[in-house]
Amino acid sequence: MDISCSEKELFIFKKIAHTAADLKIPCFLIGGFVRDKIINRQTKDADIVCVGDGIALAQAAAKRFNPVPHVSYFKNFGTAHIKVDDLDIEFVGARKESYRYHSRKPDVIPGTLEDDQNRRDFTINALAISLNEKDYGKLSDPFNGIEDLNNKIIRTPTDPLITFSDDPLRMMRAIRFAAQLGFTVEEKTFEAIRDNAYRISIVSQERITDELNKILLSPVPSTGFSLLFDSGLLHIIFPQLVDLAGAEYKDGHGHKDNFHHTLQVLDNLSMKSGDLWLRWAALLHDIAKPATKRFEEGHGWTFHGHEVIGGRMVPKIFSKLKLPMNEKMHVVRKLVELHLRPISLTKENITDSAIRRLLFDAGEDFESLMLLCEADITSKNKYKVKKYLDNFTLVRQRCREVEEKDHIRNWQPPITGEKIMEIFALPPSRPVGDLKNAIKEAMLDGDIENTYEAAYDFMIRKAKEMGLHPAKTNS
Ligand code: ATP
Repeated sequence: MDISCSEKELFIFKKIAHTAADLKIPCFLIGGFVRDKIINRQTKDADIVCVGDGIALAQAAAKRFNPVPHVSYFKNFGTAHIKVDDLDIEFVGARKESYRYHSRKPDVIPGTLEDDQNRRDFTINALAISLNEKDYGKLSDPFNGIEDLNNKIIRTPTDPLITFSDDPLRMMRAIRFAAQLGFTVEEKTFEAIRDNAYRISIVSQERITDELNKILLSPVPSTGFSLLFDSGLLHIIFPQLVDLAGAEYKDGHGHKDNFHHTLQVLDNLSMKSGDLWLRWAALLHDIAKPATKRFEEGHGWTFHGHEVIGGRMVPKIFSKLKLPMNEKMHVVRKLVELHLRPISLTKENITDSAIRRLLFDAGEDFESLMLLCEADITSKNKYKVKKYLDNFTLVRQRCREVEEKDHIRNWQPPITGEKIMEIFALPPSRPVGDLKNAIKEAMLDGDIENTYEAAYDFMIRKAKEMGLHPAKTNS
């Protein structure tokens, strides 16, 4: 083999090769698996292209394994999938493609290995390894993909203008691979992305967002976002981010370029966390700065309330990008809304009450919030960075002390709404909510301890003020 595979993988490929030989169907390992093996990147997906019926090959190959894996297949696409151990293997018949202007779904006819390599998006993704008896393990590299891998270059095998116009998703893929692998997009290829950026409109939002997520999860995500910006793609798929770019000057006052700053925050955070949603929060933390930007005479530029307006923008952006509108979105919103709070706690004479409120509001996302705040320090002045980080260390320490004492982070109301209704014989009504809220506020203010007994006594006193009396005594 021209690539190094594990014993297990070699065993699996041998079985597939024997099956293909019996069926007289030439077959090859192709695409991302070959690429990743050559650059020593983890991969668990193997694509096999065969000159013949891919589904028939998958079904026959599956029978040679013990236990026999389930074969799932799509007749319309001529693709089949089996999983052996932890390797996902996809079979497809070699094909030749032709495109129409308004769709990225090609017309397909059966073809040769060469036809199939011609339809691949990048030279580094067109590498194939023979699984055939006569030249088992031999590499086929018609477009100098190995050279591009060595030089870390993303380049289309054929005319990039046609490649990207045919399937504009490939523009996102080019930038995503550049970000994931730390590669450069070759000049002509990049120019073609610029020229075809408008064609992204024929790609579904789900596919675009899938690529955005992969860019966000890459080691240095700013690489991908800068390329998206420079190519003009970002202007179409995410205009709110583009609005962050640029700095304005007036009466000697300037402000920072918030696009540049956002990307720095994202990279800082990505050094500390691989969590996709925390990375989304970093990307969106200042998203409302353009909407809240004002110039105050004698003072300079302000962005008052950008964290609150930004929080409100999160659901709209998630919905537009077809990101999940679930708990993850709420976490991103919360982190955007709270991203200035820990800074306000770095001043002197901060009360326990303010600390408790932050712990309460951040809840189980407190650690994520602190990571975001620390990543938000982008000053070039080393001493300032150290000072700010030290301040946050003190905030963390205070929070730890208060949390140990008061257990706020996963706070649950010590007396539930049902219990309040039962004690005062109330139907579901406003006073029930008012009492519950008053208990919470008293606890956060430090007026009462975070215990059932303290909450109960306080509730009885508060209820009396409201003209309410228990229907029965506490048992
Ligand atoms: P990853 O698994 O990280 O997404 P990959 O290269 O394996 O990387 P897949 O989407 O699994 O990507 O695709 C497998 C192979 O199919 C690619 O290596 C490439 O050869 C080809 N391919 C995928 N999508 C396209 C496309 N839009 N246009 C042309 N070829 C494509």
